[in-house]
Amino acid sequence: MVQYLNGNFAGGESVADVALNPIWTYRHSMTNDQNADRSNHDHDHSHNNSERHDHGNELDPMAARVWALETILTEKGLVEPAVLDEIIETYSHKVGPRNGAHVVAKSWSDPAFADWLEADATAAIASLGYMGRQGEHMQAVFNSADTHNLVVCTLCSCYPWPVLGPPPVWYKSPPYRSQAVINPRGVLEEFGVKLPDTTKIRVWDSTAEMRYLVVPMRPEGSEGLNVSELAALVTRNSMIGTGLALLPGAV
Ligand code: FE
Repeated sequence: MVQYLNGNFAGGESVADVALNPIWTYRHSMTNDQNADRSNHDHDHSHNNSERHDHGNELDPMAARVWALETILTEKGLVEPAVLDEIIETYSHKVGPRNGAHVVAKSWSDPAFADWLEADATAAIASLGYMGRQGEHMQAVFNSADTHNLVVCTLCSCYPWPVLGPPPVWYKSPPYRSQAVINPRGVLEEFGVKLPDTTKIRVWDSTAEMRYLVVPMRPEGSEGLNVSELAALVTRNSMIGTGLALLPGAV
C-alpha cells in the first residue's frame, strides 16, 4: 500500500482505504459506489439520517457540521431524509454516470460520433442533451492498448457533473489528488486495475476551464450489443480512469 505524505493521512491509508473510510456517514459519501455499498456493512440496518448512530466519534469537523445542519433542518421539518437519500442516489448512480455511459457507448458503436467526440466533446455530448454547469468545456480522452488515461483535479475537485454526476469522496481526497500524479500506476492497482508495463498512463488535471471524460476501451465480447447494452458495461470509475469497462458476462 502507498504511504501518503499528507498529514491528514499520516496513518498510511491508501486511496482505497480512504474510499472506505467510516466518514461515509457524511452526506457526500453517498456519492461513492464503495461507500454506498458499505451501507450493508457488518450489521443489518439502514443508515438514513434518523437512524444514524455513533461509530466511534469518527466524523471529521466538516462531516460533523453537515450532519448537525441536516439534523436541525430535519427536526424543523424543512428537509426529509428519505427525499435527500433519493436525490443523492439519483444523481450519484442513475442520472450522472449513466449519461456518461451513454456517451461512451455511442462512441463505441458510432465511429462518426466518436470522431466528433474527439474533436469537440462539448458539442458532441450536448447533442445527446447532456450539458450545463461543470460541463461547459469538455474533452474526451480515449484509452488504447498503448495509453491509459486517468483524471484528477489536483487543486480541488473539478469534475464533469452533467456526464458523471457528483464526484465520489475519494476523488476529492488529498491522497488521490496527490498520488494520482506521483504514482498513478500504484493508484490504479489499488483500484484493482493492473495494466501491462508497456501501457503508458497519462494523467489529466481537471480545472474549472476543462473537464475530462475518459472513454474506456470497448471490452472484448461486446460485438453485436446495442447502445443501451454497451452502456451497461461502462462504470463511473472507467470514465475517470480508475476502472475499466466491464466484460459482457459481468453484467
Ligand atoms: Fe477542482
